[in-house]
Amino acid sequence: MTNEQLLSDLKEKCKACQGCSLYKSRTNCVFGKGDPNARIMFVGEAPGETEDLQGLPFVGKAGKLLDKFFIAAEIDKNQIYVANILKCRPPNNRDPDPDEEAVCIGYLREQVRIIKPKIIVCLGKIAAQMLIDPEFRIMKEHGKWITKGNFKITAVFHPALLLRDPSHNEEMLRDLVAIKKEIEKVG
Ligand code: URA
Repeated sequence: MTNEQLLSDLKEKCKACQGCSLYKSRTNCVFGKGDPNARIMFVGEAPGETEDLQGLPFVGKAGKLLDKFFIAAEIDKNQIYVANILKCRPPNNRDPDPDEEAVCIGYLREQVRIIKPKIIVCLGKIAAQMLIDPEFRIMKEHGKWITKGNFKITAVFHPALLLRDPSHNEEMLRDLVAIKKEIEKVG
C-alpha cells in the first residue's frame, strides 16, 4: 500500500475515534495535510476554530502567519506534512488534557511510522513537551536539535504566540532558515 492509502485508512479510524470526549464537541477530525512522503513534518498542538470548521490544520490566523514564515524561509509547503498532537478541537481552545494527549498521540505516532520523516519540527511548547521533553522550555530551547532514532527533532515558537508577541519574529525566522538548511541536507 502507498503512504497515501495508509494515511487515508488511518484517517478513517481517527474520524471514528471515541477515545476521549472531544469527538462530541468537534465539527471535524483534523487529521493532517501535506505530502504523504514528506521528509519533514511540522506538529502543532490542537485544532482551533477555523481548523475544526474546515477539517484542516493551520488554516486560521496562526496558520496564515506560519505560511508567511515558510515563504520567508523558502520552505516549500508542498514538500511538508503538517499535523497536530490532538486531532479534535478542545472547547474554547483550552490546553489539551493529559488524558486526551495520551489517547491521541497514538495517531501521530502512526503518522510518523508511515511517513518516516527525517525531520520533525514541534510548533510550540505543548508539542515540544510531548515529543521532546516534558520539561522543554520553548523560550530557551527553541532551535536546538536532538537526534531521536531515525530522525532529528527541533522546536520553534508557535505562530499563535507570535501573533500575540511579534518581538520573537526574528528568532522564528532564524530557526526556520536553519531548518531549511537541514531539509537541504536530508534531500
Ligand atoms: N494551532 C495549532 O496548534 N494547530 C492548528 O492546527 C491550528 C492552530
